[in-house]
Amino acid sequence: MRRGVHAIFALALLLAALPSGARADWMERTEAIMGTRVYVELWAQDATKGDDAIEAVMAEMRRIDALMSHYKPDSQLSQINAHANTEPVAVDKELFDLIKLSTHYSQITDGAFDITYASVGYLYDYPCHIHPSEEQIKSALPAVNWRNLIFDEAHHTIRFGHPGMRIDLGGIGKGYAVDRCVAILKARGFEHAVVTAGGDSRIIGDRMGRPWLVAIRHPDNPKKVVTRIPLSDAAMSTSGDYERYFDEDGVRYHHIIDPHTGHSASKVRSATIIAPTATQTDGMSKTAFVLGAEKALEIINRMPEYDAVFVLPDGRVLFSNGLRPPAARPAGAPPASTEAIPPHPP
Ligand code: ADP
Ligand code: MG
Repeated sequence: MRRGVHAIFALALLLAALPSGARADWMERTEAIMGTRVYVELWAQDATKGDDAIEAVMAEMRRIDALMSHYKPDSQLSQINAHANTEPVAVDKELFDLIKLSTHYSQITDGAFDITYASVGYLYDYPCHIHPSEEQIKSALPAVNWRNLIFDEAHHTIRFGHPGMRIDLGGIGKGYAVDRCVAILKARGFEHAVVTAGGDSRIIGDRMGRPWLVAIRHPDNPKKVVTRIPLSDAAMSTSGDYERYFDEDGVRYHHIIDPHTGHSASKVRSATIIAPTATQTDGMSKTAFVLGAEKALEIINRMPEYDAVFVLPDGRVLFSNGLRPPAARPAGAPPASTEAIPPHPP
């Protein structure tokens, strides 16, 4: 694995500079949590502390999953979906705050991000190749509208203001979880680390004096890299129509749903957002699928903390103002470095 190679390379450089006896090392672990791959890699001065920190990260991921998963009938999120149509449902302040924050992303994306998409979204089953009929979409679609979420700040209750509503945090929960884990690592003094959950990653520090090089893959070929972005102390989310999907009669049914139509949103093939936190990048990475790259770029370019890379259906790659496409390599020049971490670890 390329990650392994550059970790070893960085280690060799550092060992040369360390007094003998020091045991600093890169440590990493991958686990399946939240229906996806969770990956953590950190530079630990002490292996026991590194192990403990990785364990704490995985425990935090499991805790958030237990609270917010829509697959788990006991989760507070499932309790909201089961009862908020008939009564206010009280939840932990943490979940209340994240649902509230979701409506902020709805506001700034003109409703492209909308956790009530699930009122239609639950009619899709990608592994089983099931999609709703036009009739089913027509009858479920009026329940998709984040403005019908009713919040009671004093009691931390949520209520649905329209029959048939459901919510799902699959579009922001992983980014939020990554940020929580980064806070845990920082509190323990870690200065070089990466935490990834599905398409959402955040980097602490740099890779021993140089930025991490993060690869954006080609939508149709996981081995082909569209571009690489150098990053340190930043978060990045990539959403793609190749993550959870099936094709039928020339139509791709995939997991990002246009809240206005109830269909899979296909104005871009992939969208990568870069910003200080993974909650921010996750909250924004669906926008271009629904609104189109131009409108999404307008929004991103208005917000100085954000950058974006969009891969369009015709293969073109668009960059926000803050990113310049890598200059073309002059004939005869040596190839660029191939070090990279994929946004979705293999
Ligand atoms: P990943 O799970 O790899 O981080 P994304 O960040 O691209 O993937 O999020 C896709 C998920 O977002 C979907 O699986 C679904 O749970 C949720 N989702 C789909 N459409 C929307 C939407 N319009 N607004 C908010 N969340 C959405
Ligand atoms: Mg995500």
